Amino acid sequence: MSVEKRLKEIKDSLPNHVQLVVVSKTHSSSTIMQAYNTGQRAFGENRVQEMMEKVNQLPDDVEWHMIGSLQSNKVKYIAPYIHLIHSVDSLKLLRTINREAEKNDRVISVLLQVHIAQEESKFGLTDEQLYQLVEEINNQPFNHVKVTGLMGMSTFTSDKEVVRNEFKHLKNLFETVKTKLNDASAFTELSMGMTSDYQLAIDQGSTIVRIGSAIFGER
Ligand SMILES: *Cc1c(COP(=O)(O)O)cnc(C)c1O
Repeated sequence: MSVEKRLKEIKDSLPNHVQLVVVSKTHSSSTIMQAYNTGQRAFGENRVQEMMEKVNQLPDDVEWHMIGSLQSNKVKYIAPYIHLIHSVDSLKLLRTINREAEKNDRVISVLLQVHIAQEESKFGLTDEQLYQLVEEINNQPFNHVKVTGLMGMSTFTSDKEVVRNEFKHLKNLFETVKTKLNDASAFTELSMGMTSDYQLAIDQGSTIVRIGSAIFGER
């Protein structure tokens, strides 16, 4: 099946309130254009260098999503154009994004990434660190950053019950953080679900799914 067909099938299967971010990491700009030409605009990359190369090759109206772990010293390269950073996991990173956004006269939307999986290797805040960061955000509001929600990745397992419970937990954290934030007016997004588990994620309240291999094939 073609990229266009697979993309259409997935889009048609998503509820209206769920946004699709097409994960294009490792794929060429010409492959990405196949998705772009169907009307898709939101694309996710996990490496700054790779994103920068594609930004230069692709149309200006692509909405770029940073979904991989981000080092503070690389924020300056994406600050001029990034649409949403899904992977904020420290106060230091948040401060850097705020500073670089100010330099570019922008307000950058971000999600706080929470570690919900069993694997050690996955990035993200513990529940405690998340609540601590929320407190710090309340104490020193950032004028050039908008915290619009949470992001998480489930454990890589075929056990649906494990995955479902992790998503349920993230949804609960989302609802709790919403009550804790002094300004929660923009706090509306829950980025969870990829090729293997996006249906489970949607059942648990996801508003953004990040899907790569179901559209482009295995990497
Ligand atoms: C690669 C990646 C995805 C997409 O994974 P697929 O299994 O190809 O759908 C989603 N989220 C993050 C953070 C990723 O790194």
